[in-house]
Order: sequence, then C-alpha cells, then structure tokens
Amino acid sequence: MSYEAALAAARQGRLYPAVILDGGSAEARRSAALELARALLCEAPAAARPCGVCRHCRRIVWPGGDEATPFHPDFQVLERDLKASTSVDATREMLRTAQVSPYEARGQVFVIASAESLTGEAANALLKNLEEPHVSAPRNFFLLAPSRLDLLPTLRSRSLAVFLGPAQPVDPQVVEPLARAFSAAASSWASSGSPVYLLSAAAALAGAGGWDDPRSGQPWAVAAAAVLRSLPQEDGAAADRRARLALAEALLEGPALRLRGITAERILEGMVARHLA
Ligand SMILES: [Zn+2]
Repeated sequence: MSYEAALAAARQGRLYPAVILDGGSAEARRSAALELARALLCEAPAAARPCGVCRHCRRIVWPGGDEATPFHPDFQVLERDLKASTSVDATREMLRTAQVSPYEARGQVFVIASAESLTGEAANALLKNLEEPHVSAPRNFFLLAPSRLDLLPTLRSRSLAVFLGPAQPVDPQVVEPLARAFSAAASSWASSGSPVYLLSAAAALAGAGGWDDPRSGQPWAVAAAAVLRSLPQEDGAAADRRARLALAEALLEGPALRLRGITAERILEGMVARHLA
C-alpha cells in the first residue's frame, strides 16, 4: 500500500491494526509514524486530519527524554532498550498498556521504533497480541524497520506493509541509460525468445554499480527504478508491464539473498529468468 493510501485509511479510522513502515531514512519512518498516529487520534473532522493543533495532535511527538517534551498517554514509542535488540521485557511492558482502554483518545497507537531489532521472543509476544484483539477501542501498531525483510515472516504476514521509498534518492541520470538498456533487452527477448537477451537484461540492471558493498541497498534501488522507468506505456502492454513489475518487486528481496553470500550478478540473472521466462 502507498503511504498516501495508508494516510487516507487512517483519517477514516480504517487503517489495518499492524502496519510496517519500511524503506526511507530513519527520520522519514519516524515522521510517517507520527503523522499516521495523529491522523488516527486527531479530533478534527476526518478530511482535516491530522489538524496539527488539537489536544491530541500537539502531544503526539517523538519522545525526547526530557520533561519539556509533550506526552500523550495513548501514544507510546518502544525504542531499542538493549545494545543490539529490543527485549521481550520492554515489549511486554508496552503490551500491558495495550490491555487497557484508551485514557483520552478514541484509540491507542504503539510504535516499535526498530522492529528489526525485536528478539524472537519479543516478536512472538507482539504477534500473539496482534492475533488476539480483545479490546473495543481501536489499537494500531507501527513497526518501523529499514526493510520489511528484516522482520519475522509471521509478523510480516499479519501486517500491512507501507514502503516509504529508497533510503537515498536515486539519480535519474543514472537510472535513464539502465532503463533504456533493460527495456531493449527485454523487448528483444520477448520478440526473439533467445535467452541471451535475458542475460543482457540482467547485465543492464547490474550496471547500477556499487555492488561491492553487500549491505548497501542503493544499487537495488537504482536497478528497481530502472525497471519501473522501462515500463511500456502503450495500451495492450499490460502483460509486459506486469512481468517487469514482478521483476522490480523481486529486486527488493535481493539484498537479503546477497547477505547469504550469493553474488549480485547471480541474483539478477535468477530474477530475470524467473520473471520474464
Ligand atoms: Zn488534530
């Protein structure tokens, strides 16, 4: 789901109870969580939410750790409490608040600031809570993470994912030539059926560069942008568009495979073969 669609659903109070906010910068994820929380709890008419000035909007802010920071009893942020993880104890403590009715607003909002750092036990405690909604007032959880792939599959399957875009903006001047090369290779493959064009399609995407850092999401973002840019716009090209979009979607899974020691070139070849064949 797009961020805009999620915001519209939040205004209407119809947002899915668990939402993953991934991609973007850490700052972008925090801002998105705050705006969605305000849209959910704001007391202005739906179309004007979040108004930014009501007693709820003004106090829904990221916790600052000092007494001057406003506080809303129905909005909680769970931050990573251990060096590298978010503990099950801290998670359970947050979930205890979720057992009681809202204090002031019509619902409650809980933000897990680094959902990728939840321990297995903590993730399962959260999951159990998502599976057993038992309060009458709406309760929304936002799980913030660099990538949804860092979360347990069980947690992902219970949540709606909202992708906020690549961590760093991609340069159109880098994307454009890749998109042209990819498009030419994909069209040649479609008309000739010769697998050699699949490999040139992969080579075009590999041209994004920067693959030597296995943890960098940037080359994948550039390659995915090139696929999107290459989509044929004319009527009757829907099947072709779908195939290329499926490839772009698969590209987003690439970094995880890469961390398992599979080279970028192999992953790209595999994706092209799977999605265009
Ligand atoms: Zn408001």
